[in-house]
Amino acid sequence: MLQVQNLVKIYKPKKGVPVKALDNVSLTFPEKGMVFLLGKSGSGKSTLLNVLGGLDRYNSGEILIQGKSTRKFRQSHFDSYRNTYVGFIFQEYNILDEFSVGANIALALQLQGQKPDSERINAILKEVDLEGYGNRKPNELSGGQKQRVAIARALVKSPKIIMADEPTGALDSVTGRQVLATLKKLSQDKLVIIVSHDREFAEQYADRIIELADGKVIRDVERRAEVGELESAEPVYMEDSVSIPEEYVLTEADKVAICEYIQKMVDTRRQPKISLFGKQSAAFRPTNTSRIATSQEGYKLIKSRLPLKYAFKMGASGLKHKKFRLVMTVFLSCISLVLFGLTDTIASYSYEETAYQSLMDQENKIHYATFEKQVMSDEYWGMPTLTDEDIERIEDYTGLDMYRVYGNMDLGMYRNLYKDPYNGYSGYYMSNFGGYLVADEDLLEDMGAEIVKGDLPEENTNQVMISTVVLETFEEFGYRGYDPETGMDIEEEIDSAKDMIGKTLNISGMEFEVCGIVDTGLDISRYEDLKKMTYEDMENMSFMEQMALQVRERELRYAQNYSLAGLLMVAPGYEQLLSSQSSLQRIGECTSIESPYFTLDGLYDSLKTALPDASQIVWLDGQARTKLADNEIVLSEDVYNNLIMDVRDENLFFGEKYYQEMNEGITPDYSAIMDMELTVYVDPMRIGYEGKTETRTMKIVGIIPSESGGGWNVYMPQSILSEIKLEDKMGGMGGVMQVLAPMPEDPEQVRKLVEFSAIDFDDDEEFTEYYNLMNPVTFELKNLDEVFKILQQVFFWVGLVFVVFASLLFSNFIAISISYKKQEIGILRAIGSRSNDVFRIFFAESFCIAMINFTLSLAGTIGVCAVINMLAKESIGLLLTILNVGVRQVGLLLGVCLLSAFVASYLPVRKIASKRPIDAIRDR
Ligand code: ADP
Ligand code: MG
Repeated sequence: MLQVQNLVKIYKPKKGVPVKALDNVSLTFPEKGMVFLLGKSGSGKSTLLNVLGGLDRYNSGEILIQGKSTRKFRQSHFDSYRNTYVGFIFQEYNILDEFSVGANIALALQLQGQKPDSERINAILKEVDLEGYGNRKPNELSGGQKQRVAIARALVKSPKIIMADEPTGALDSVTGRQVLATLKKLSQDKLVIIVSHDREFAEQYADRIIELADGKVIRDVERRAEVGELESAEPVYMEDSVSIPEEYVLTEADKVAICEYIQKMVDTRRQPKISLFGKQSAAFRPTNTSRIATSQEGYKLIKSRLPLKYAFKMGASGLKHKKFRLVMTVFLSCISLVLFGLTDTIASYSYEETAYQSLMDQENKIHYATFEKQVMSDEYWGMPTLTDEDIERIEDYTGLDMYRVYGNMDLGMYRNLYKDPYNGYSGYYMSNFGGYLVADEDLLEDMGAEIVKGDLPEENTNQVMISTVVLETFEEFGYRGYDPETGMDIEEEIDSAKDMIGKTLNISGMEFEVCGIVDTGLDISRYEDLKKMTYEDMENMSFMEQMALQVRERELRYAQNYSLAGLLMVAPGYEQLLSSQSSLQRIGECTSIESPYFTLDGLYDSLKTALPDASQIVWLDGQARTKLADNEIVLSEDVYNNLIMDVRDENLFFGEKYYQEMNEGITPDYSAIMDMELTVYVDPMRIGYEGKTETRTMKIVGIIPSESGGGWNVYMPQSILSEIKLEDKMGGMGGVMQVLAPMPEDPEQVRKLVEFSAIDFDDDEEFTEYYNLMNPVTFELKNLDEVFKILQQVFFWVGLVFVVFASLLFSNFIAISISYKKQEIGILRAIGSRSNDVFRIFFAESFCIAMINFTLSLAGTIGVCAVINMLAKESIGLLLTILNVGVRQVGLLLGVCLLSAFVASYLPVRKIASKRPIDAIRDR
């Protein structure tokens, strides 16, 4: 079974001289029986046992297990050997205090890959006289009991060998005897090797005694057979001695063998030892090694495999000891992980995700998918009309049936139709239509809109429906119209929907008759505070507040103008009429150097369409014309007044002086503007030039007095006329300015809309061509996109710092935890677990912390993000769901937790796990 040949073990301490603890030891152990290793302290007994048990390595010589050489064994082989064949019992018991008696025993079984069943464990406990102790904790047991638990643990795997190093050393002699008796019982069918310095015990219990001194075997005797049994009285030939029974008659063969022995001793310069032993006189006689059968078969190792459950239990039990530390570590690393999660959420900001989430937010009430085309280069930015191809593309991609919105947004202005346009500050109220949309029953149903007064427009008429939102403006400001019969202005209060029915709206030079009022369901209550805003309020605001206010106003415009509520709902067939109608077209913007406040974006072509009677124009140079030159411009009196007021008193916005003069009927003196030059920025799209905005210097040549016919001043008070030639493709009212459909309910479709809106359809590097999704959410997002992108960069690095910090905390915790665990590791190694199992325990422990950390920090991140989102929505009034914790954050947090657990455990554990088991045991 177990054989050693010429075994040498030399300890080489770091300081001091090397110690030869085993010096050329050769022994053969029997299959069963109780073998005592006897000797004084320091004689090498423990060393021999450790080497035999594979806890320690030897320097030279050989150990054979089942006839198999162990010379090429790596540590893990020895671990498996110990796991398979050896039950180890220590003086200090070395049982795991964390586990119950039963669990300690079960562990040994599991390391062998066997299922622990309680029956078997109970049977084993009975065998060591500890029946019913399975659920006790080791600290409730006496020393002898503990040692018997250790024996039971050794026994449970039915080892072929039990090794015990001074098993009675810590026990009183009575309990010592009990333990030895137990071991004796076991030795009936297994090999029990016991290290002891107690000769009395040895002689009482041993079947064989091997005595050591200075690392050498000085005596090797076996118990005689029971008295009465016949002794085979033969000489015993040993490696370096020969023992001859008393009164034995040497045969010829014996003589030859003895001579050979002597010759061998002489050859190797050793002292021949020939002794006599009495046939029946003593209990022991020299061991006859030759009679020991050396079995060669059945060598098979079981690799230990600590079950994960145990690994986790041990790992988790380790946590109990360091509660405060654990809590602190988890707390701090969670904080930094949450911050990391947060920063990464910011860092992984994506326009699309934010847009998607914010559109899906039902609170935001984005009920329409509205698209507008946008063409852009470094120099230029414009919103051209949508061609049939464009619309097909949108419909194909989004799977929505789009409604076409005709006309030019800039021309939809109806603010001039208010009776009292300057009555306070009107940021809440609409002043522009988003365009013209053909209205029929289907549209209203599709959009979930309802007629609250009047009827649908009749086909091919100029009848229109307006929304309740538009109605609200008229209710606020009253209605101002123009009677074509008399050429006179009409002014009226509007109290309810019915008052607006039949009213004429003259917009962009075309007349519409209001036939119905539609409730489109648009809810703009969140902007209600803008209603009461006055200029005075504005002046008292800080710059930031003013900015925020402006953003909100524009946001409201988006809510109004890109929804059904902001559209003029015209009669079927009327769109053809609109498209064929030559009309005023916006060309660009206009500023004056002399008048800093003067900025107009109503610059219109042309004199003819705008004015039925050009003779009413007051020509500043006295020369009447029917056509303007390229650099000439005509102002309405309203525009003139604004301009001149600013020139007169730069600090006076809607100046009192102006009203005073008007009231006193002072005839305007136009001479002040005779030499004034206006800078006109011509929208390049309008004149067919794709690229730079064209700047022209224009000269004012005429004024259209307020009293001029055709209601021009009523309809186009803020406009300037010129003859700048427009590109044909841009002209007319028939262009589709936007398309819209009800917002789909399917989240996937919403995602598609967002995706689609982020695609650049222009192949050219210089230009981009997008179909923008238009609503308050995307408006806000576009404004903040840049800010988020900058934050993204910054937060990426900040996040990195947090991750490193969390990992460091973690590593530190694990390292400390490992130092606490050294003893357990030693014990596990002693009972046969490999370094792999030790890894498992620590990874299990780290994994536990990692998962706690992960769970807490994920919950924290989601929570913090939700709170920030909520604050952003409720306190700042943002519509956006800025922070979207996604798969990425979950993955990253998990990854960071696991990775840092792994890295933090790996190095220290490797160090301790790669130790020889004997060092691991000693190290505690
Ligand atoms: P025993 O168990 O018989 O008392 P040991 O086998 O423990 O003796 O020790 C044998 C010899 O080896 C002693 O001289 C002891 O000092 C020495 N020794 C034991 N272990 C070590 C060690 N780890 N390093 C150095 N010397 C050791
Ligand atoms: Mg010892």
